[in-house]
Formats: sequence, structure tokens, C-alpha cells
Amino acid sequence: MSEPVYDLAIIGGGINGCGIARDAAGRGLKVLLVEQDDLASATSSWSSKLIHGGLRYLEQSEFGLVREALQEREVMLRIAPHIIHPLEFILPHDKHMRPAWMVRVGLFMYDHIGGKISLPGSRTVMFPDDTYSAGLKAAIRRGFFYSDARVDDARLTVLNAVSAREHGAEIRVRTRLVAGTRKNGAWELTLRDVDRQTDSQVKARGVVNAAGPWVKHLLDDALNVQMNATVRLVKGSHIVVPRIHDKGHAYILQHSDKRVVFVIPFEEKFSLIGTTDVSVERIDDAAEISPEETRYLVQAVNRFLAKPINEADVVWSYAGVRPLYDDGSANPSEITRDYVLKVADEGGKLPLLSIFGGKITTYRRLAEHALRELQAYYPSMSGAWTASEALPGGDIDSLDEVVRTAMKKHPGLPIDYLRRLASRHGSRTELLLGGSRSMSDLGELFGAGATLLSEREIDFCMNEEWARMPDDILWRRTKCGLHMDAAERERAANFIRAKVKA
Ligand SMILES: Cc1cc2nc3c(=O)[nH]c(=O)nc-3n(C[C@H](O)[C@H](O)[C@H](O)COP(=O)(O)OP(=O)(O)OC[C@H]3O[C@@H](n4cnc5c(N)ncnc54)[C@H](O)[C@@H]3O)c2cc1C
Repeated sequence: MSEPVYDLAIIGGGINGCGIARDAAGRGLKVLLVEQDDLASATSSWSSKLIHGGLRYLEQSEFGLVREALQEREVMLRIAPHIIHPLEFILPHDKHMRPAWMVRVGLFMYDHIGGKISLPGSRTVMFPDDTYSAGLKAAIRRGFFYSDARVDDARLTVLNAVSAREHGAEIRVRTRLVAGTRKNGAWELTLRDVDRQTDSQVKARGVVNAAGPWVKHLLDDALNVQMNATVRLVKGSHIVVPRIHDKGHAYILQHSDKRVVFVIPFEEKFSLIGTTDVSVERIDDAAEISPEETRYLVQAVNRFLAKPINEADVVWSYAGVRPLYDDGSANPSEITRDYVLKVADEGGKLPLLSIFGGKITTYRRLAEHALRELQAYYPSMSGAWTASEALPGGDIDSLDEVVRTAMKKHPGLPIDYLRRLASRHGSRTELLLGGSRSMSDLGELFGAGATLLSEREIDFCMNEEWARMPDDILWRRTKCGLHMDAAERERAANFIRAKVKA
């Protein structure tokens, strides 16, 4: 049997690969996406989980990036309202920080540079205030309010892959591209099944290198292509601590080195604190947070908190590496966060498009941009479409409406649990629950209360969302792992492993 010939083979199942797969499949291309591990197993689940313009990028004169990101924030709130939510930010201010006039100018630009915005504009708030000074030292008498949004980054990635599949794309996880060459009028690609350690060949008319931090490895080692661009690896880490205050807003705090650190409400009971900027030579150097980074983040927030936190409060942490386009900046915080696309071909055919940099926030625009670059190679490809079609599960008026519908159909399921499911799956909650009416219809249960994980959801993640390993489900399709103790996590992991073997 001859190998299938794809229009486009996309290497990398992070947000950029999955976003391009969705867009390209919806334009009529025959798409294959391969991911060596799990979808969003790398940078796309290591982010600060913000859909934001990036207030601080204004200082670096990255006006184009901020404009695009703020415009995109509006689109994302519309197409994925189940997993992207407005988030109020407070920037506490005192005389040791950037001058107030500078902050005001920055916020004025932030309110206007992206055009019409639906979120509340910025303003000054005086402290103490019943809401916005929660948890802060009494000496802080003033702050600034502005709006941004938060996202479940791993789910955003997976939902792009689900949408890509709905539009005809083939998605293969745990499949690594190990070699590729242009031969006999096609790209010949060798793919390795990482579990079975077996290789197979496919052909494609074009390749997208969306390997994130591995973008150069892919070029140098697998594709053997010289490219005049390099990637700078900048590690960023986060810590998770018990909720610092019970209000809904986030803080953006200026540390003594002038860098800013976010404190973001996370998974109801927790606060997410990040991030750091540390240049690293190798991806493996960013495997976990270092003690210095933890100390740095704790110190950053303790400058502002009435009740200081300490390193023993950390319940979870993660570290990742930003694959930034090397623009020559010496300071890792100042390297551009914008993306750069490079296309190379052979005699006007068989394109290879490589992605350097990017943000979760702008992935959809990056995908449109990538397909614009590829248009000449696929003249019959149709136009841009992803701004107007909701991502899977996002075709809802509100999460409350999803919960109300679910309560009617599944009267025996607690409302808090249904809320949790709805915030992960949106309108797909119904697909997941099927005919279940009570908890006993959900199979084996792990964890407790609203945050429990059911066998039914495990099956859904495995059958509909390519989950294969315990971490895929406990930490990426859901964050249930955070709400379990070590023994509960182990029981769930063993259960998932047994399902994989069955
Ligand atoms: C600390 C930190 C905080 C951030 N915060 C934000 C934020 O709040 N908001 C925001 O918008 N952005 C943020 N970002 C940026 C954002 O996370 C990244 O730009 C984005 O996730 C990059 O996605 P990607 O698809 O390019 O890379 P990745 O998500 O890393 O995906 C690349 C994938 O390619 C796969 N791969 C590599 N080689 C192969 C191969 N040979 N075969 C098959 N698969 C392969 C990898 O396994 C990986 O899954 C942050 C980044 C970091 C590190």
C-alpha cells in the first residue's frame, strides 16, 4: 500500500502547531500533526495562563505585539468563553516604583492601542479598599486597576486539536519526527512511535516546524536544513500557594529589580505566582524550578503582602522554557516576545515553515500569518476563518447556562461538580456525561467534592482528547492532580495506566 500524501505535516502539538492544524484543515488542506509526547506537554502548559496584551512590553516599544495581542484578547474571549475569562488586575503602587505618570501613560495606551475593547478600562484605586487591597500591606495606599484575561493553556491547545480533527486533520501523539528530506517531489518524513519504538514513513507537500524550544534541533538534527535564525531559551518558573486572598482579582507586583511578578487566582483554592526569566543553554536545564527562583518569587510577593508567604507554602511548581527569537538582546527579559516565521523551499515547492517565538495569546494570528506565507504553495486554499467559529465547547451564552442545562438532564449530580466540568468542557459537558444521572453512573471516582475526577471524564479525555498517560489527565486535560493528595494521585495514576494497557 502506498503511503498517504499530506498537504501539510505539522511537527509539534503545542499551541502553535495545533492552531495551524486547525486553521489549515478548515481551509481544506489534508493535515497531519505529530507530537512526540502529549499535546501541550511543553511550553504551552508552562505559561502564566494569561491572554494579555503584555503591559510591560509597552516599555520595550513592542507596540505591534501589544496591539495584536489586545485585539486577539477580544477574539479569544468570544471563541472560547468556557476556558478564557476576564481577569481584573491591580498594580499596587508606591514611590519606589516606576513613576505614577509613567504607569498612567502605559495604561492609557493599553486601553486604546488595540481599538475597541469590551473589558473595563484602567483607573486609579485608593487603598484601603474593600476588594482591591485584599492581602496587601496597610502602607500601600494606592494602586491601578486594569483588565486582562486568563486561559486554561493546555485545554486551549487540546481544543484546537479537537477542532482540527473535526475539520479533517489527523493528530498523532507520542509520535516523533526523526528524519525528513525532500525526495522525488515530496517531503519524506520518518515518524517514530515513541512507545513501540517503531518507525513509519509519510509524505507531505509541505512541513511546519512548530517544535517550540526544539525548533533548531528539528532543523539541525532531523531535517538537516540550515537556517539563518536562532532561538534563545529563557526559563520561566511558577509557584502555586494556598489562596493569598479570597477576591477575584490578580496582582501585578514590581520587584526590586523592576521586573514584574503576577499573583493570579488559580483553581479556586490557590494563587499562581510567576514568573522568572533565566537564560538557559539546554531545554533540560529548565526541567524544574530552582531554589533561587522560588526564593525570588517569594521575596517579590512579600514586598507587598500583609501576611508573608514562605517557601514551605509552595504546594506545586512548574518550570518551562520560552523559545524566543534571538534578537540579540543581552537581558533575557528584554528579548522580543513577538514571533518570527521563516520559510524555505526548493524551486518554489515543498515549503518548510519554521516558527520562532510567539505567545499563547497570539497563536491564532500566528496561524493566519503562517498560512498567508504558505498561500502561494496551496493556491486553492480558502481564506481565514478561525476568528468567527467557536472552539469546541465554546458555543455557549454563559457557563451558568451550561450548568442549568446539565442540572436538568443530570439531576443527581452536584451543582459544584457540574460547574467544574462546564469550566473545562463547555457545551461538550453533555457529550462527556451522556446519560449519567447520578454519581454512581460516573464509574470510579478519584479525589473529593467539586474537584473530583471520574472514570467517565478519564474515558472522555482518552477517547476524545488523545490523553494516554496519568499526567495528561491529572495535570493537563484537568488540574485534578492539584486537588488530590499523593495517595489519591497514585491511585488515579494506576487506574489510568491500567486502562492504557487494557
Ligand atoms: C514561563 C512562561 C510564561 C508564559 N506566559 C505566557 C502567558 O501568560 N501568555 C501568553 O500568551 N504566552 C505566555 N508564554 C508563551 C507561550 O507559552 C509560548 O509562546 C507558547 O506556548 C509556545 O508554543 P509552541 O507551540 O511554539 O511550543 P510548545 O508548546 O513547546 O510546543 C512544541 C511541541 O513540539 C513538540 N516536538 C518537538 N520536537 C518534536 C519532534 N521531533 N517530533 C514531534 N514533536 C516534537 C514538543 O514535544 C512540544 O510539545 C509563556 C511562556 C513561558 C515559558
